Amino acid sequence: MKKLICIICCALFLPLFSSCKSEGEEGANYRLNLVLNEDMTVDGSMEYSFTAEFENQSYITFNLYPNAFSENATVSPVFERDIPSAYPNGFSGGKVDILTVKTNGKTADFEIGGVNSQFLKAKFSSPLKRGEKASVYVEFKCLLPNVNHRFGYGEDTVNLTGFYPIACVYENGEFIQNVYYPSGDPFYSECADYDVSLTVPSTYTVASSMAVEKTIWSGGQTEYVYKRDCVRDIAFVLSEKFNVLKGEANGVEVTYYYYSDSAPEKTLQTAVDAIDFFSSTYYEYPYGEYAVCQADFLYGGMEYPCLSLVSDAVGEYLDYTVAHETAHQWFYGIIGVNESEIGYLDEGLTELSTACFMDGREGKTYRDYILEAENSYEAIKSSLTYLGITTPPVMERNLKDFSSELEYVMIAYNRSEIAFDRVKSRLSDKLFFKTMKKFIKNNAFSNVTTSDLTKAFERAKRGTGEFLKGYVDGVTAI
Ligand SMILES: [Zn+2]
Repeated sequence: MKKLICIICCALFLPLFSSCKSEGEEGANYRLNLVLNEDMTVDGSMEYSFTAEFENQSYITFNLYPNAFSENATVSPVFERDIPSAYPNGFSGGKVDILTVKTNGKTADFEIGGVNSQFLKAKFSSPLKRGEKASVYVEFKCLLPNVNHRFGYGEDTVNLTGFYPIACVYENGEFIQNVYYPSGDPFYSECADYDVSLTVPSTYTVASSMAVEKTIWSGGQTEYVYKRDCVRDIAFVLSEKFNVLKGEANGVEVTYYYYSDSAPEKTLQTAVDAIDFFSSTYYEYPYGEYAVCQADFLYGGMEYPCLSLVSDAVGEYLDYTVAHETAHQWFYGIIGVNESEIGYLDEGLTELSTACFMDGREGKTYRDYILEAENSYEAIKSSLTYLGITTPPVMERNLKDFSSELEYVMIAYNRSEIAFDRVKSRLSDKLFFKTMKKFIKNNAFSNVTTSDLTKAFERAKRGTGEFLKGYVDGVTAI
């Protein structure tokens, strides 16, 4: 997500992509059937096919993000000060009810628990062997809240993201359960293939993160059949007000969905140029389509694989926000991280990449953007010191360990961008981008850690991994 500090303080194209799986390997697959009803509920079913990750696997855990929006949630996804702008019509609760769970075709026991009832544990009647194929079928019903957030609806758009049960990442002997905090992004998932049917009232224009395979109109309803391979998530933004502009970036269809933009061609061009720029700088954009959508969203923007959501309130920061969210297609999309633990990694690399792309585009240079990050860092540090908060600026820490959104901005955005700028200076631009290209190629469609990145820089030039670690550990002054 891009938090704009100054305002928040806080067609068919050639398939570029075949598969993220090794030859002979079968990856995870989600088959979703979804119906959006006029009362802002979604009737859904999901079949998740996967391969057991460990011996004697007796259960699997899924994220139920919509429950963070429930009136019973103990941790709200909205800061208290943002409640009026998030809920202009008063508080409105959202949730997902789990109606049926089957594992390997049989009705199964399941539990819903954790903070905010954010997790579903589906049990297998007999434990799975490591490598055994298995499936989980879930019927669910979502209630969308009237909120200007990732999951909800506002005046102009319906934001249908983070709505279906998505498998938790299995790591170090456990399924990772990230709480939905108001700052940062709680998302962490593995790449999978998606086959999706979505039926909506025909009055909506639907922006989706997937390629449309078929469209069927019947009785005032439209069914879209979608497919997308090897992505971490899917997302939809719907509106009855959308205008649609299309462009192309080296074979990638780029679509801009908007309802309030006096220069939409310019915004589209920014998205097209950004796809081109990051493709040549890092790694070729691996999908056939990319969508940018304006939306009712109280923060600056939000990234999903193949789709970026941009708030209709970013004003003069529209192009910057589009560039930032597009850079996330590489740092979050292609290279995954646990955003609750090392949000600095994708936000910092995204901010640095955005500064590289924006260099000279709006009368500001790359160095101007770095200077802005330095000034923001120092200003927030002074404010926190004044408040008695003198926590060392450790970059790798859980979202719950930040004292405020300001501190998160200072660390995950500013300090991280500055740290990567210093690494770039130490290596030279040429070696930095060569190292990043290799790092992305070697880790594409996987999840990475701080250690993976420091090792890559260490291999590029001795001492550089340790140099970055000094920033991550909070011991090096900017
Ligand atoms: Zn971001």
